[in-house]
Amino acid sequence: MQNSNLLSTPYYMCDESLLRANLEILNRVQIESGAKVILALKGFAMWSTFPLVKEYLKGCTASGLHEALLARDEFAKDDENLEVHTYSPAYKDEDIEDIARISDHIVFNSPNQLFKYYDRVKEIDSEISLSLRINPEQSSSPKDIYNPCGLYSRLGTTLENFDERVLEYIDGLNFHALCEQNVDALEDVLQAFEAKFSKYFKGLKYINFGGGHHITKEGYDVDKLIRIIKEFRAKYDVDVYLEPGEAVGWQTGVLVSTVLDIVHNGMDIAILDTSAEAHMPDTLAMPYRAMVRGSGEAGEKPYTYRFGGNTCLAGDIMGDYSFDEPLQVGDRVIFEDQIHYTFVKNTTFNGIKLPSLAILREDNTLELIKEFGYQDYKNRLS
Ligand SMILES: *Cc1c(COP(=O)(O)O)cnc(C)c1O
Repeated sequence: MQNSNLLSTPYYMCDESLLRANLEILNRVQIESGAKVILALKGFAMWSTFPLVKEYLKGCTASGLHEALLARDEFAKDDENLEVHTYSPAYKDEDIEDIARISDHIVFNSPNQLFKYYDRVKEIDSEISLSLRINPEQSSSPKDIYNPCGLYSRLGTTLENFDERVLEYIDGLNFHALCEQNVDALEDVLQAFEAKFSKYFKGLKYINFGGGHHITKEGYDVDKLIRIIKEFRAKYDVDVYLEPGEAVGWQTGVLVSTVLDIVHNGMDIAILDTSAEAHMPDTLAMPYRAMVRGSGEAGEKPYTYRFGGNTCLAGDIMGDYSFDEPLQVGDRVIFEDQIHYTFVKNTTFNGIKLPSLAILREDNTLELIKEFGYQDYKNRLS
């Protein structure tokens, strides 16, 4: 966190050496298991770091046209080996041809969509690889909002809705059933997936295991993941893809903010120049309590504060944190692990300024990459 006082807050700071450490782990999985790992842009799209990311990963998985365009623009490799995989729950007539032009793989969510767009897509690129997303109906995802296999899920095709005629058109199958989970959860999903769908694997070139693998989290059983992938590849003679988002950006940086005021209403409440609602959305959606550097749980240390955002939403609250010393107006507050699923989801609710983006380079220089202002707010409205 050297030099962190030089930039005005709020800002996210991605630490390149931590990012490289994650990429090294993911690369070990690639090398030792033979799987291909691609970045899910949905979770981490700080494209100014892509020169580093693409040293390791094979490409990107995009949620639609815009992410696919970003992959082409910013992830292109000198050796032309970039792979862009695109998956949307449903495609639109006006997007599908552009998507076909820039994607190497298109993943359809339903047989319907595959049949609808097959001809148009192949006309644009006869080499394009097509896949169908499966719902294995097995998930231990801890939260309903992040459970793609939950009740009435629209994500992926269930066995009941599988139409064998798709086999003529596809090279692979995808599933995405995990969220921040260890390899045991993958094992359960694979078991269900194989029991239901392995009869259709013959002739397929690849199976995509989706994201949600918490590979770079301390304690993740990387050796077991490697073993499982190797066994799977050998058993079915297919390529395996993993497409993590969170595991790439996991624990690679912080959101730095400043205490603007401290008010009192039954407790001490610090108002920060950032927002849980606008800048740390998963803290409210999941919800979870972000760690703050140097803090303890409420009451654990002598001085406890509730942290609130600088918007008018009553619930714009980060949580209660305690400190050894009283906080002062002007103090910096550092939220840990705020690089994945943060700026990709941000809003300008209340017209609040988007936090700047900064990178702590591997030579320890802090570089301000992007500052946002009034135009970013105005341009989204009219
Ligand atoms: C969100 C998503 C991912 C990435 O998930 P993480 O939890 O960030 O690893 C990969 N594939 C699909 C289809 C997704 O929807």
